[in-house]
Amino acid sequence: MEKQYKKETICVQSGWKPKNGEPRILPIIQSTTYKYETSEQMGKLFDLEESGYFYTRLQNPTNDYVAQKICELEGGVAAMLTSSGQAANYYAVFNIAEAGDHVVMSSTVYGGTFNLLTVTMKKMGIDCTVVDPDMSEDQLQKAFRPNTKCVLAETIANPALVVLDIEKFANVAHKNHVPLIVDNTFATPINCNPFLWGADIVTHSTTKYMDGHASCVGGAIVDSGNFDWDLYADKFPGLTTPDDSYHGVTYTKKFGKAAYITKATVQLMRDLGSIQSPQNAFLLNIGLETLPLRMERHCSNAQAVAEYLEQHEKVAWVNYPGLSGNKYHSLAQKYMPKGTSGVISFGLKGGRAAASELMDKLKLAAIVTHVADARTCVLHPASHTHRQMTDEQLVEAGVAPDLIRFSVGIENIEDIIADLEQALAAI
Ligand SMILES: *Cc1c(COP(=O)(O)O)cnc(C)c1O
Repeated sequence: MEKQYKKETICVQSGWKPKNGEPRILPIIQSTTYKYETSEQMGKLFDLEESGYFYTRLQNPTNDYVAQKICELEGGVAAMLTSSGQAANYYAVFNIAEAGDHVVMSSTVYGGTFNLLTVTMKKMGIDCTVVDPDMSEDQLQKAFRPNTKCVLAETIANPALVVLDIEKFANVAHKNHVPLIVDNTFATPINCNPFLWGADIVTHSTTKYMDGHASCVGGAIVDSGNFDWDLYADKFPGLTTPDDSYHGVTYTKKFGKAAYITKATVQLMRDLGSIQSPQNAFLLNIGLETLPLRMERHCSNAQAVAEYLEQHEKVAWVNYPGLSGNKYHSLAQKYMPKGTSGVISFGLKGGRAAASELMDKLKLAAIVTHVADARTCVLHPASHTHRQMTDEQLVEAGVAPDLIRFSVGIENIEDIIADLEQALAAI
């Protein structure tokens, strides 16, 4: 077996490993299609009898090398890239839940995921019960139904910064014979590997820290290979009974531990087509090379900003799991001892109006929808990303109307704090 390198090394060296005379850097295979010598060979690919590339909507080598790197970073057995984080969460759930099924989801998930599950997938006949992530196991148990197919939550919720008790969620999910899907976007595999704590599937919006430069939208799904679909075969017929669209292939029988990702690729990607462009995968791969360095800096800068804000007289509250007084500090220490992320939220004594005023006064920190990249940026969720939510839903999602989301970049910490200083002085 090949030596298992540490994460910093995986980030730089894994995925594309050139052989003698091949390009050192991951090539962008900018081709929709692939050539074969015989008609029979091509036929076997379509029957899933042989593996190989035939059309980039299903698979592309550049994408697969990058997926392989992310897979290693998470400690999974198989992974795929998607065109966005939204597509990743959609496919991760839809791969095992269909009309008539039910999903349990944490209330604090990203607004886009909340809409996906409670509005769009509801129209597709999949019901969703929203739960408070701080509930006890007994309370969580009440959300399950005989037709529940999975549980979905985020390691660190965007933007509520609620740290998930992964073991608690995994226990309840497994007691009910369903997998736990964890969106690990904010923590990244550098700060947390949800598989080590019982999660079965991990999703990512690679748009955030993984790319890290705000240059390309993308997503990823990784399977731990730990969930035994055949043990609960009647719950997951899509994986454990023949697929008519491939002449009766049964995914768990033919592909073993790769069953879940193979089905998502050959069925969902084939039919729904949310492939990542190889150009974006190339950029994502470059971003991944520096992910450990950037996460370290994001976390130390965010810690300093949180401590600065906490002692400022105009600041009413600061939420950052790295602060010792934070409600989630001990959970963060357990699951993310190296740090959580660069994202902080806070409110001003002047409330909602002061929040808008402060944002207008910041010079270095830019007002953008984006979060979690190299540049410090700021957003007011109640008036931006979460504006479609009712006040009640906002509170449930852990988003106070005065909440400012501050995404600390990797600039010099003195410049970031000086910017906040001058803006706070001006309001
Ligand atoms: C941004 C985000 C998403 C959606 O990802 P896109 O790449 O924007 O589609 C999903 N989950 C989390 C936690 C996010 O922050």
